[in-house]
Amino acid sequence: MDAHLIDRIRGARRVAVLTGAGISTASGIPDYRGPEGVWTRTPSAMNAFTLKNFRADPGVRREFWRTYAGHAAWRAEPNAAHRALADLDGAGVAVRVLTQNVDGLHQRAGLAARKVLELHGTMHTTRCTGCRQRFPTPEVLARVQAGDDDPACERCGGILKLDVVLFGQTLDGEVLGHARNIAAASGLFVAIGSSLQVEPAASLCSVAVQAGATLVIVNRDPTPYDDDADFVLRQDIEAVVPQLCAAIRGS
Ligand SMILES: [Zn+2]
Repeated sequence: MDAHLIDRIRGARRVAVLTGAGISTASGIPDYRGPEGVWTRTPSAMNAFTLKNFRADPGVRREFWRTYAGHAAWRAEPNAAHRALADLDGAGVAVRVLTQNVDGLHQRAGLAARKVLELHGTMHTTRCTGCRQRFPTPEVLARVQAGDDDPACERCGGILKLDVVLFGQTLDGEVLGHARNIAAASGLFVAIGSSLQVEPAASLCSVAVQAGATLVIVNRDPTPYDDDADFVLRQDIEAVVPQLCAAIRGS
């Protein structure tokens, strides 16, 4: 690893990490925009992940639930990158993860839930769009698998929707405000496995840089924020993130 990079990040005390789909591909979860990505292989899936269509069309909801029932994330385990970030927290380093992922793998790797901000929500809970009652998603998927392919709220009959942000849906303002504060307070901001094409999440890089943080981008492909970064790493995420964490700790 680059000696300038090691010098620059060693001893960082407040580390904010923005993670995207690329950190979970080594766990067997396909990304969205890569060559094998969900949107690349099945452009029609974007239709099912659009709020307006989801609300209006039972056929779209059936496709959505079918897709999620077979989602690789239900069988996925955290990988070395998730574990390295979880292990970095504590021992004098404060780690906050701002994630675009909905798979919950940072928490499964051992990072406290309060240290993970899920910018795009979570696939692990489902909510009624009518009465706002929350259900564990596996309960809803069990109904789908039992033949109830457009499951309605058991309390009010309303449309059930996964707690993930769909296209056409705005991010939770409170979560985003909190994420901006974390980015601005970080000394080191590391973007990992995100194409940085989805706003406003991607602009957290600018928030951090404007506040004086060092920006490191780890991604297979170029991103719109590479010119703002102090260091851009194209290496394999599962290999390079543990090295970065070791460098931060000075070990
Ligand atoms: Zn309801």
